[in-house]
Amino acid sequence: AKLSKEDVLRSAHDSGVEFIHLQITDILGIMKNVSITIEELEKALNGEIIFDGSSIEGFVRVEESDMYLKPDPSTFVIYPWRTSSGYDARLICDVYTLDGEPYEGDPRYALKRVLKEAKDLGYDVKMGPECEFFLFHTDERGRPTTITHDNAGYYDLAPVDLGEAARREMVVALKEMGYEVDTSHHEIAPGQHEIDLKVDDALSAADKLMTFKAVVRTIAQRHGLHATFMPKPSFGLAGSGLHFNLSLFKNDENAFYDTKDKIHLSKEAYFFMGGLLKHSKALTAITNPTVNSYKRLISGYDSPLYITWSSKNSSSLLKIPPKRGKSTRVELRSPDPSCNPYLALAVILKSGLDGIKNSTLPPPSIDKNVYEMDVLDRIENNVASLPQTLDEALKYLREDDILRLALGEYIYSRFMEAKMIEWQEYSKRISPWEIEEYLTKF
Ligand code: GLU
Ligand code: MG
Ligand code: MG
Repeated sequence: AKLSKEDVLRSAHDSGVEFIHLQITDILGIMKNVSITIEELEKALNGEIIFDGSSIEGFVRVEESDMYLKPDPSTFVIYPWRTSSGYDARLICDVYTLDGEPYEGDPRYALKRVLKEAKDLGYDVKMGPECEFFLFHTDERGRPTTITHDNAGYYDLAPVDLGEAARREMVVALKEMGYEVDTSHHEIAPGQHEIDLKVDDALSAADKLMTFKAVVRTIAQRHGLHATFMPKPSFGLAGSGLHFNLSLFKNDENAFYDTKDKIHLSKEAYFFMGGLLKHSKALTAITNPTVNSYKRLISGYDSPLYITWSSKNSSSLLKIPPKRGKSTRVELRSPDPSCNPYLALAVILKSGLDGIKNSTLPPPSIDKNVYEMDVLDRIENNVASLPQTLDEALKYLREDDILRLALGEYIYSRFMEAKMIEWQEYSKRISPWEIEEYLTKF
């Protein structure tokens, strides 16, 4: 059952909550907190807290910088650890202008708009994320390094690695916060871990992902480790993905499931995939929004590079995991944890819905390992690649009117501007590889 305002007030008082973090996410996917004490909670729940949006990246527009925070009571969660004064809790907020309109720069609102569009077509959207991350040591001065002393590999159990204890505590904390954790395991690279959350309503899944990252970081810190969601921290090792398991439900039935089809997928599932594949280059700018994201999207590390789908092969962009019935889903494997989950889900859904509206069929599946196909084989099968750089992805986003619509003009232009600057700043730098390669050669 969803929590009401009254439930939240009662629960906060009964549980000894002292501070409440009112949370919003900026366009670049960074969580922002406005903290209040329990005395102000009622006022906050009535949507009377005003904050200055001009101090927040991606919210800037100085002439109308004051905005209202309207907490969503159903997002009330108490952090399980005690601080010196009591417990802390979080509430995720929607942002409103002083005129009482939803703020167009609020990524949560962008997602809500696309969810409404899905609902109007009769669909409830579900998502289950699989999030990978690295745990690294900090140095004598507490600064994060990229060093791990752990030599464990995929699903390795013994000897227990240093990150294992931290990860277990993360899972326990998440459960205490009401998260349903599906599984967690050590990933393939040293120091790399994965925690998978159970499928949830799309909005709630995005909310949970934001807090998830904060919890993982906090607990890592308590173990003297640094948790990073940077997509590719080390050359030559696997990167970290954030796979999205997507499904649509109609009247409580999984709309992707149909026993009449050879692999038990419905027309909607195929069209949804068709839409995702059609918009895949443009949506990469949102699901893989950093310079570093593109160092992960290469051959050989189970991260996607080619725009293909398969029910068998993990090197493809879209994978249909074996489960059917209520669990029938499409796994999009390109997103990485540096993305803004609200915007990522908004463009992903928009793409899938576009496929459904236009009955866009995907090309035939490619079930062999795409990394191993040679160039001619790929040309013959019409296999295109995802963008290779942030710059290239931004160009595709610029040309995609449908995804621009999903973001809204305000978010689209702020995002574009910020990311173009990011790309230019990066491009001007001389990397260690260039020095190694050219300094003595020329
Ligand atoms: N780490 C891989 C990625 O970058 C995924 C590995 C897996 O299939 O879990 O997406
Ligand atoms: Mg994994
Ligand atoms: Mg996966």
